[in-house]
Amino acid sequence: MSRYSLFFSGLITLIFGVFMAFAGLPFSYIFIFSGIIMTVLGAFLKPPVSVEPEPGKKFCWHCYQQIPADAGICPHCKLKQ
Ligand SMILES: [Zn+2]
Repeated sequence: MSRYSLFFSGLITLIFGVFMAFAGLPFSYIFIFSGIIMTVLGAFLKPPVSVEPEPGKKFCWHCYQQIPADAGICPHCKLKQ
């Protein structure tokens, strides 16, 4: 999903840059260059693996350690959830 969204947003940026170049607006090369980079990266990069906590656990909001799902206070950073 994120792979295709980067690909299509790069295409839109590239098309906008080409439009700016035809319209004679300045700095169109920035949009063309970044659109090409985004399109190529979106076509070849693998989407990142989503991180899931183990069953019965959750991630702390403050230190991102795995803690029990019913914990009110994090045992690592002692902050309230
Ligand atoms: Zn914590």
